[in-house]
Amino acid sequence: MSLWSLIKEKIIAWLSDDVKKPKPVVTKTPASYDPGLNCPQCKFKMRLSMGALLGGKPIVCPACGLSLTVDRERSKGCLNELKKVNDAIQKVEEAKRLR
Ligand SMILES: [Zn+2]
Repeated sequence: MSLWSLIKEKIIAWLSDDVKKPKPVVTKTPASYDPGLNCPQCKFKMRLSMGALLGGKPIVCPACGLSLTVDRERSKGCLNELKKVNDAIQKVEEAKRLR
């Protein structure tokens, strides 16, 4: 289950253009479903909401206050992919609940 790590890599790739960062921090956690992102500045594990990403809202780090904005134009293709992934995840979650 590497869906989230793929998404995280994409997000980090967009963000690293704005936030100068030597290399992306992708943490490997035992939990497969882990919608989190490490702050590029202070490494704080931020909660990442699909809705915020798709809505183009800035992601604000609660630890250092760094605001990360996703460039919607530049990341259009990726956002479309995210939407598909989001739909797929929701379907899986629904299926789980019905069981
Ligand atoms: Zn931070």
